[in-house]
This record gives sequence, structure tokens and C-alpha cells, in this order.
Amino acid sequence: MLLIACPYCGPRDQVEYSYGGDANVRRPADPSASTDAEWSAYLNERGNPAGEHDELWQHAMGCRRWIAVRRNTLTHEVVSARTLKPVAST
Ligand SMILES: [Zn+2]
Repeated sequence: MLLIACPYCGPRDQVEYSYGGDANVRRPADPSASTDAEWSAYLNERGNPAGEHDELWQHAMGCRRWIAVRRNTLTHEVVSARTLKPVAST
């Protein structure tokens, strides 16, 4: 069982959260300019890291905000949890 410290609510049990995937995946800036292979890689290809990894989690049964959690995939230790940076406007 993981104990994740929501930056807004404080430490809460993992059951209050929903996993949202790899926090390092970036949508192509101009999807219409992407090749099929680039778009397919964005949608489907994910690593299987051993060690510390940045993940997105939603505090679904709490404040409902998305946070970035750095977790060790080998030990399940939650190294840090932080708010997401605002998305820069274009
Ligand atoms: Zn929260």
C-alpha cells in the first residue's frame, strides 16, 4: 500500500488516487505535422523503467486534482509528490 502526500490535502492512502500514467510523455506540438509513426509512438509506446519514475496521479477521492508523483518502481517508495506546472500558452 502506498501513502501519497497530496500537495493540497496531505498524506492519503493510495486507494484515494487513480493512476494516470507516465508524467514524461509529451503530446507532439503540432499533431497534424506528425508522421503516423510519431503519433503511434506518442499514443502507445511506454517505457518500463526500473527505479525512480515520474507518474501522474489524480486524487480522485479527495481534491480531484492531478499531481506528479516520483515513485521508485522497484521498492514502491514514493520519493515526492508535487503540483503540476501550469501549461504554457502558445
Ligand atoms: Zn488532494
